[in-house]
Amino acid sequence: MSEHTLSPETLTVSPVDAEGDDRFHDECGVFGVYGHTDAGALTALGLNALQHRGQEAAGIVSFDGRQFYNERHIGLVGDNFTKQAVIGRLKGHRAIGHTRYSTTGAPVLRNVQPLYAELAGGGFAVAHNGNLTNAQTLQRKLQDRGSIFQSTSDTETIIHLVAMSAQQSFVDRLIDALNQLEGAYAVVALSEKKLIGVRDPLGVRPLVLGDLEGTYVLASETCALDIIGARYVRDVEPGEVVVITKNGIQSLKPFEQTPNHSRFCIFEYVYFARPDSSVNGTNVYSIRKRIGEELARESGVDADVVVPVPDSGTPAAIGYAHEAGLPFELGIIRNHYVGRTFIQPTDSIRHMGVKLKHNANRAMLDGKRVILVDDSIVRGTTSLKIVQMVREAGAKEVHMRIASPPTRDSCFYGVDTPEKSKLIASRMTIEEMAEYIKVDSLAFLTIDGLYRAVGEAGRNGEVPQYCDACFTGDYPTPLTDRSGAGEIRQLNRLVEVS
Ligand code: AMP
Repeated sequence: MSEHTLSPETLTVSPVDAEGDDRFHDECGVFGVYGHTDAGALTALGLNALQHRGQEAAGIVSFDGRQFYNERHIGLVGDNFTKQAVIGRLKGHRAIGHTRYSTTGAPVLRNVQPLYAELAGGGFAVAHNGNLTNAQTLQRKLQDRGSIFQSTSDTETIIHLVAMSAQQSFVDRLIDALNQLEGAYAVVALSEKKLIGVRDPLGVRPLVLGDLEGTYVLASETCALDIIGARYVRDVEPGEVVVITKNGIQSLKPFEQTPNHSRFCIFEYVYFARPDSSVNGTNVYSIRKRIGEELARESGVDADVVVPVPDSGTPAAIGYAHEAGLPFELGIIRNHYVGRTFIQPTDSIRHMGVKLKHNANRAMLDGKRVILVDDSIVRGTTSLKIVQMVREAGAKEVHMRIASPPTRDSCFYGVDTPEKSKLIASRMTIEEMAEYIKVDSLAFLTIDGLYRAVGEAGRNGEVPQYCDACFTGDYPTPLTDRSGAGEIRQLNRLVEVS
């Protein structure tokens, strides 16, 4: 073991660690802090605030000037990173952390980030939010040259490329690696001397910079700065690399092909980000309310009450009710002790999940003409059950209004969506969907309406201002792994049984 190595006793292997998982998926939240005595604890708090971005697993790597300490656990941040013993093991003044989104397939500990590697120049830990669209193609090439992959996470590709780079410093090696990658990424990385934050050239996924009494903090969203009392400084810019050392912060714009426009994920505004976060200085909740107002202007209907599908439909329903001049009522109550429906692995469990999660509040629905507002329809499971529930509670009419355009295409940039064939809007017209979910009327926000809500005049078809591929199929980067550019090997043959 060299002087700067991963302390083996701190690598906690969870008993839940089960089968392998053949997909690349990294829908997540990231956090990093440099130069604070409580770096490990601050990172745990930050990850707590980012829990909505990933509920499957979480990890923290800290560095105390001599050794790296790595704690990775399957499960929620609050279940694993509140114990004094765990935080106590994360020694040092610098740390990075990661929460991982749950998708189908069993959680596998070796995929849990941050990933750590002993490289020629020293220890290196990396955590990544987003999804790389050529990682499998690169992995195949690296394997052909002898690389041994330990996980099925696309983030490991970054480590291998850093390891093989001919550049000298970690920053240059990381830039060299990222220059070879396509897709979306917000990365935090920790070397022995530096905390590094990077956003991909299109800035698809968010990353913000904060300040805690002179200590720099990086986080996916501003809500993670709020929880530790850090001041929001600014968003890390698309294509920017920030390097934080004991001497302060340095900003680089090194990418060979940084376009002069960004393509931030518009779905962060619709659903993914927490409503109390700000993106580019704009509060997400306010945008969701504006989305609801646009929706009311575009597809108003005679009704008695506006009811959100909680929680994701609530801000848009408030905006809708305000614009339509209708009462807003909590006609559906959500049980907060069950996770997001979407994460359930099979259809039958997902169907039960909706009933576990929501219950009709009959007093607000009986005899009423109800406008139901939700942020999106993915497979249609939630809408189908909710509409049935609302009708059983006595609603006279049910009008469904969706605060985004129909989701017709999968996301390959870090938001977990099922394959296209499972997206109800890719298989049915709006009329067919209305019939399927059994509503009196169904309307979606138009793509221009969504752009108006985020402050644009409309969607610029020539150079769209956001990534809206899930609504338009217009993917802003090549999808090399999917284009059949190379044969993709089975990613994982190992089933971990203990
Ligand atoms: P579904 O039941 O499959 O139609 O899913 C629709 C519900 O899932 C909506 O209430 C959304 O709030 C929520 N949702 C949409 N996109 C996602 C996502 N990527 N992850 C988790 N939940 C989502």
